[in-house]
Amino acid sequence: GGSASASTIKQVKLERESELRIEVGNETPLKLRLLNGSAEIFGSELAPEMWLTFPPRLKFAVFTWYGATIEMDGATETDYTADETPMVSYVNVHAVLEGRRNRAKALSPNDSEASQGPRVIVVGPTDSGKSTLSRMLLSWAAKQGWKPTFVDLDIGQGSITVPGCIAATPIELPIDPVEGIPLEMPLVYFYGHTTPSNNVDLYKTLVNELAQMLETQFARNAESRAAGMVINTMGWIEGTGYELLLHAIDTFKANVVLVLGQEKLFSMLKAVAKSKPNVDVVKLQKSGGVVSRNAKYRQKSRGYRIREYFYGLANDLSPHSNIANFSDLLVYRIGGGPQAPRSALPIGADPIANPLRVTPVNIDRDLLHMVLAVSYAKEPDQILSSNVAGFIYITDIDIQRKKITYLAPSAGELPSKYLIMGTLTWLET
Ligand code: ATP
Repeated sequence: GGSASASTIKQVKLERESELRIEVGNETPLKLRLLNGSAEIFGSELAPEMWLTFPPRLKFAVFTWYGATIEMDGATETDYTADETPMVSYVNVHAVLEGRRNRAKALSPNDSEASQGPRVIVVGPTDSGKSTLSRMLLSWAAKQGWKPTFVDLDIGQGSITVPGCIAATPIELPIDPVEGIPLEMPLVYFYGHTTPSNNVDLYKTLVNELAQMLETQFARNAESRAAGMVINTMGWIEGTGYELLLHAIDTFKANVVLVLGQEKLFSMLKAVAKSKPNVDVVKLQKSGGVVSRNAKYRQKSRGYRIREYFYGLANDLSPHSNIANFSDLLVYRIGGGPQAPRSALPIGADPIANPLRVTPVNIDRDLLHMVLAVSYAKEPDQILSSNVAGFIYITDIDIQRKKITYLAPSAGELPSKYLIMGTLTWLET
């Protein structure tokens, strides 16, 4: 890596099959454009001569298949050219998936088995480039006119909505290199924590719900069924994390497992797949460009994701501050609620909390700075199986007057009065 450079205009000539790896500076954005040739950012092609503005801290690569000249304006933390990349192997995977999509489309939509396109799941340790590979496969498919479904099971660093969620959304256009995944109408389930160990049963339950909902959608949409899905997973691959990967592979009926950068995980999954003739397990090299992010960076970027939900990437959204009575809102939490008192249990029994129990929460100061999900549930017993409409952020609790002040994406009444609380907090900065 290089050192921070002064803000000047700089041109970089890229040879065929090489990439320019950039970490935007911490304070100021970076402007960049394609001067000549052709180039793409994580599978999304750059339009000639159009300036793009990348926000501070973004890490990305501009890759060219046939050669290109790139112009940059602004300070970077690092920028360097690399001619060794795994891109050829990645695009070969894309070509195989493309073949399967075409086959699925050609087959009678009445044969739901054969008309199902590839269901790809990307697995690997943290910082192996899973999200980036998912994004490339989706953008390349969208460029060919498919509408693949992106499923993000990463509750820590997901790219569809705020942290603590699992979500899915159709990708209809190559993913914008600056804006990322469009936030229109994703299908979102709120887990409420940023690590799965908080409530493994709940995580699995929500994965089941999401998979079932997609199955229903696929059943009546031959186009999206043929396009298939790309599933991004968490970097937790040991112990329970590994169990959750197997659970996801089964639940989504994945038929292509792409393993990034770990031999051991590859051989374990390969062994498992012996009993599953329809599942292909493929080992792929991790890109040398993937940037490792420590716990502190991850924590920070979760905060930025929440800020982006309410304010937009470029402060272009205007969230609304609302005031409600305590009695207007019904807050629930899942699992870990107050346990039955020992006296209420048979002698010798331990009070075990039911991880899937939905319990009402008293509104008090503990809710301050929490991010709550707004459920689509119509009754409390639907909360566990319902997806969510969006999120609110609690900015004030007035115990005396029994008033709650919260930030919501827009003014007006919430789509539902059922709110879900987890452990997701945010300190607005
Ligand atoms: P997680 O551990 O959160 O699951 P991951 O395995 O999904 O991480 P990515 O998010 O894909 O990893 O990559 C980590 C970071 O490296 C991201 O900021 C991404 O933009 C960046 N990155 C990936 N590939 C490259 C590349 N070739 N050049 C420069 N930066 C890259």
